Amino acid sequence: MSEALGSVGRMPDPNPDELLEGLNPEQRAAVSSASTPLRILAGAGSGKTRVLTRRIAYRAATGDIDPRHVLALTFTRKAAGELNARLRALGLRDAVAAGTFHAIAFAQLRTRWADRGVTPPTLLERKVGFVARLLPRRAEPFAAIDVVSEIEWAKARDVTPDRYAEAAAAVDRRASVPAQVVADVYERYEEEKRKRRVVDFDDLLSLARKAITSDPEFAAAQRWRFRHLFVDEFQDVNPLQFALLRAWMGDRTDLCVVGDPNQAIYAWNGADADYLVNFDRHIPGGETVELRRNYRSTPQILSAANAVLAGGRLGSGPLIPNRGDGVAPRVRSYPTDVAEAAGIARAVRDARRPGAPWSTQAVLVRTNAQIPLIEDALRRAGIPHRTRGGGLLARPEVKAALRALSRSRQPLAAALADLEQENDELAARESGDEAEERHANIAELVRIGHDHLALDPNATPASFAQSLIAVGGDQIGAGGDAVELTTFHAAKGLEWPIVHLAGLEHGLVPIGHAKTPEAMAEEQRLLYVAVTRAEEVLLCSWAEQRTFGTRTMNRTPSPWLSRIESAVERRGRDAAAARVLARERDKLRADRGERTARSGRRAAVAPDDPLLAALKSWRTNAARAANVPAYVVFADATLEAVAERRPRTKQELLALPGLGPVKAERYGDTLLEFVKQHADG
Ligand code: ATP
Ligand code: MG
Repeated sequence: MSEALGSVGRMPDPNPDELLEGLNPEQRAAVSSASTPLRILAGAGSGKTRVLTRRIAYRAATGDIDPRHVLALTFTRKAAGELNARLRALGLRDAVAAGTFHAIAFAQLRTRWADRGVTPPTLLERKVGFVARLLPRRAEPFAAIDVVSEIEWAKARDVTPDRYAEAAAAVDRRASVPAQVVADVYERYEEEKRKRRVVDFDDLLSLARKAITSDPEFAAAQRWRFRHLFVDEFQDVNPLQFALLRAWMGDRTDLCVVGDPNQAIYAWNGADADYLVNFDRHIPGGETVELRRNYRSTPQILSAANAVLAGGRLGSGPLIPNRGDGVAPRVRSYPTDVAEAAGIARAVRDARRPGAPWSTQAVLVRTNAQIPLIEDALRRAGIPHRTRGGGLLARPEVKAALRALSRSRQPLAAALADLEQENDELAARESGDEAEERHANIAELVRIGHDHLALDPNATPASFAQSLIAVGGDQIGAGGDAVELTTFHAAKGLEWPIVHLAGLEHGLVPIGHAKTPEAMAEEQRLLYVAVTRAEEVLLCSWAEQRTFGTRTMNRTPSPWLSRIESAVERRGRDAAAARVLARERDKLRADRGERTARSGRRAAVAPDDPLLAALKSWRTNAARAANVPAYVVFADATLEAVAERRPRTKQELLALPGLGPVKAERYGDTLLEFVKQHADG
C-alpha cells in the first residue's frame, strides 16, 4: 500500500536506481522510458498510479526534469489528494503541482485576472437554483436538476445550445424534459451568466483554454511553468478537458497518460475513453507500455472481477494475480434492506482483525440514497464511519426538500406525507436519466423523517431539517480512524483490505435508468471498479425487499452476481481438486519413504518458530524507533521467508520476497545475524 521507498524514517534524496526498486520489468520500463508522449495502459491495481508517481520522481532524480515544472492531473479532489500523498511519500513534497483540471484552470485564471487588474467573475455554486428560474413556469419541481446534468453533459462534449437536441438524440439521451426545452434553457443560461458576470465550473476550463489559445504571452508563461504533463485515470477525460490539455501542451510532446478502458465510468457525463484507447490518433508519435500483473487483490478477488467483465472486456487480457491465495468472496442475501444494513454492520465488526484500524474497511454502494440506512446501522453498532462527499445531504434535491421542510408550518407527519405523495407522483411520471436516483433519495429522506418522528413525536419539519443538517455536518467533517462509506464512483483509484459491496440488485446494479447497451456496459464496468477496490476480502450482499419511502419492492439479485458466485465455485472446485492431488502425491512420497516436501507458496514455518518470533519482536522495535508501521520495515511474508529459508549470505537474502537492495543494505546484517544465532533451531 505504501509508496514510500524501502528507507525508513529519514527521507533521503532518492537515487534513480532506488526508484526502480520494487517494480516489475514492465513497470520499470514505464518509469524509465525516455519516450514521450507515453501511454501506460493497464488493468485495475496493476500499479498505474504507482508508476506515474515513480516516473515523476525518477525523471527528477536523473536530472531530466525539474519537479517544479511538472503538472500532474486527475479528475476528482480525492484522487488529487491520493496523488499528492504518493508524491510526498517519494520525497517530492510540495514541488509538484498536482490537482484536478478545474483546480489548475481556476488557479491560472485567478493569476491572470489579478495580473490584468480584472475583477474576477463570480463562481456559480447554486446551479440548480439558477437554472430553475429559467425554466418554463409549469415545469416539474425537479426538472432543474435534469436540465443541469444535460447542460453539464453538453458542455463536456463541447456541444452548443443550438446543437444540443441533435447531439442528445444521437447518443440516445432521454431527460425528463423535452430536448427543445433543455436547449432553450441552456441558451438562456449562458446568456444570463454573461449578463451577470457569473461563470460555472465548466466555464473555468473553456476560459482557461481560450486564454491560452488567444493570448500568446499567457500561453508562453503557462507552458514555461508546466513543461511535463502527467494525467492519471485518462479514460475519464472529456472533450473539454482534452482541449485544455492540448492547449497546455502546445506543440510539445512531454505528456504521460495512464488509464484503463475497463474502468471508464463517466461516459454518461461526457467523458470519452477513445482519447485513451486511440491515443495515437489524438496525440501521434507516442509509445505504449502495458502492465499485466495485479498487485492489489488476491487471485480469488481477481477471478470475481474478471468474471464480472467477461466478454465485455476492452483491450488487454484478464488480470494476472501476483498475490498469494486469500479467502473466497462471499455473497449474502438478506430479507430486507434494513436487515442487509444490520448484516453489513455485523460483518464489519466480525471482519475487524485485532489491532487493525477501521479504515482497513470500506462499504461501497451504487447510489447515495443507500448511504443513510447503512450509516444508521453502523452508528447503532458503534462503528466509527465516514461518508465521502456528504452522502444524501449533498444531493441538490434533498437540500431543496430540506429547505422547503424548514419553512413548512404543518406537523412533521403531514409534511412528510405531502413530500412522499409529491415524490410518488413524480416517480410515476418521470423516467429520466437521474430521475430514479432522485426519487430514491427523497424517499430515503421521508424514511429518515419517520424514524425521527418515532424518536421525537414533538418534532416539527423545521427541527427535523435542522437536526439532520447538524448531524450531517458533523459526519462530513469527521476525521480519525473510520470505516469508509462511499459510492462506487467515488471509490475509483482507491483500495482497502476489506470491501463490502451492498445492494447488488437489479435496479441498483445496473441502475434502473440504464437501458441502452452502452449504459449497461458502463454499469458493468462500474461493478468491476467496485470489485477491484478489494485487496483481501470481498463481501457482497443484496436484499430481497427494499423500501422506498413507504413503498416496499421485491428485488432480484444483480445479473452479474451469479458470475461472481460461479467464479467462486469454480475456484473452490479447482482448489479442492488440487488438494486431493496434493494429498495423493504426498501419500505416494510417504510410501516411497520420502520425506514430505515442504511445499506451497506460503512459507511453511510454524507460527511459534523461535527465529520467527525473534524477528517479529525485533521488527516491532525497529518500527517504533523509526516511527512507522511494522509492515513498512518488513511484511510478515518476508519474515516468514527468512525463518523458513534461513539465508546465510546477502545474495540469498536478496532472493526472498520483499527484500530489495535498499532493505538488504539497511537490515541485511541484522537479519543474517539472527539466522546465525538460531542456526540449530
Ligand atoms: P487503479 O486502476 O485501481 O487506479 P492502479 O493501476 O493505479 O489501480 P496502484 O494503485 O498504483 O494501481 O497499485 C495497486 C497496489 O499495488 C498499490 O497498493 C501499489 O502500491 C501496489 N503495487 C503496485 N506495483 C507493485 C509492485 N511492483 N510491487 C508491490 N506492490 C505494488
Ligand atoms: Mg490508480
